[in-house]
Amino acid sequence: MYDAKHEADAARLFIAGSWRVGEGREVGPVFNPATGDTIADVPLATAADLDEALAAADRGFVRWRASAVDERAAILHAAAGLLRERAEAIAALLTREQGKVIAEARAEVAGSAQLFDWYAEEAKRAYGRVLVRPAGQRSIVVKQPVGPVAALSPWNFPVYLLAKKLAPALAAGCSVVAKPPEETPACTTAFVRCLIDAGVPGDVIQLVFGVPDTVSRHLLASPVIRKVSFTGSVPVGRHLMRLAADGLKRITLELGGHAPVLIFADCDLERTLDMVVPQKFRNAGQVCVSPTRFYVEESIHDAFVRGFAERARALAVGDGADPATRMGPLANRRRPDAIAALVADAEAKGARTVVGGRRGEAGYFYAPTLLADVPPEAEIMGTEPFGPVAVTRAFATENEAVAEANRLPYGLAAFAFTENGRRANRLGDAIEAGMVGINSFAISVPDAPFGGVKDSGFGSEGGIEGFDSYCVTKAVHQA
Ligand code: NAD
Repeated sequence: MYDAKHEADAARLFIAGSWRVGEGREVGPVFNPATGDTIADVPLATAADLDEALAAADRGFVRWRASAVDERAAILHAAAGLLRERAEAIAALLTREQGKVIAEARAEVAGSAQLFDWYAEEAKRAYGRVLVRPAGQRSIVVKQPVGPVAALSPWNFPVYLLAKKLAPALAAGCSVVAKPPEETPACTTAFVRCLIDAGVPGDVIQLVFGVPDTVSRHLLASPVIRKVSFTGSVPVGRHLMRLAADGLKRITLELGGHAPVLIFADCDLERTLDMVVPQKFRNAGQVCVSPTRFYVEESIHDAFVRGFAERARALAVGDGADPATRMGPLANRRRPDAIAALVADAEAKGARTVVGGRRGEAGYFYAPTLLADVPPEAEIMGTEPFGPVAVTRAFATENEAVAEANRLPYGLAAFAFTENGRRANRLGDAIEAGMVGINSFAISVPDAPFGGVKDSGFGSEGGIEGFDSYCVTKAVHQA
């Protein structure tokens, strides 16, 4: 029987088929961001642990790549089933460690289960092709799993963003050494437990926590690892790419963004506001595709600011475990400091704080904030706030709005609100981003690619592209 109480205090490493904790390993503290209290420890892997995990993944790959695709698919479907069965317990751990409101935590677990179901089926469609050749000869092109994977995932969606790596990697036949974030170890331990209980062999998935730089250097220096997948910040992405270059390892980087939102006067303003405000404050703004830079057509700018502020003011902020809460705390103590500095800089450069602009009293809270008329030279116009802050500027023409949207080196997500179909087509073409949402925020779904351009990284997660990123292509010619 699954015991949530036990799990709540029980982050574990999973190496070579056994759950590990203690045994003299160093530990790190885990905090509840709603209170700032220390709630548990996370065991930190030693060099010997990492070597054992690598050796297991090396063995596991041989076994897993040879398994029947129906067997892998059945295990992934079973994992999806266990995630749904244990969703309540996993969501409670996620909220306790990460801070997001419980309804979002439940949705995160449900979305993760969907990924496993989708990739379980996609594994069966890893088709190659047969080339036209003279009678008696054959040339075929096949996809094969790339090899053991290092999966490095972040703390903002600790379950979902790990699932986005594990589901396609396992479906393709890869073994994985996963290092989820140390901030949220119990929910990811409970998640990996679902995979093990569903039948993923103990040498196919390895779960480690540790000092991030030590772990990633160790894993990326190993010839066992053939592919690295990282979600996180641009500087860390650059650093990992350099490490990956030494071993010529394939790498997928899903890095930061600074999503522009173009609001045209021909949009349905009330409906747009009802959509954008909850999206801005989802996960307290700690979302790589969070709508952040609102460029609003001059004639409706003031009405937009008023409507946004009214809705932001009405949001109930508090402990995510309380079902009445609509926005929880930030996930770690670094974030309120970073946001306060960006807001102070914007104010000093002439931005108007319409709502929010202050920290909470306990825990890692920061109020839902709207800064209006923010000058382009304010730091927040170029640095991802990764928090509950929206900024606005008025624009006069579509060309000006597109130029502003494309101004930054980031290119992850962008959004636009307009009822003009021709304009929608033009924007879809002109905006430099990996994902463009027009009158929609539904851009992270199992069957579509998700990933950035420019400094937001490269490679896709999700969709058939996400599956392909765990495959290599081979041509076999037979005369
Ligand atoms: P950070 O740059 O210190 O770390 C970002 C992530 O990378 C964390 O999960 C961290 O554990 C991990 N990390 C750090 N150094 C690493 C290393 N050497 N090897 C492997 N992993 C390493 O930033 P932070 O304060 O944790 O987060 C703030 C910034 O990170 C935000 O501004 C945002 O841009 C970015 N971020 C992006 C995403 C995303 O979904 N793309 C998620 C989380 C954080």
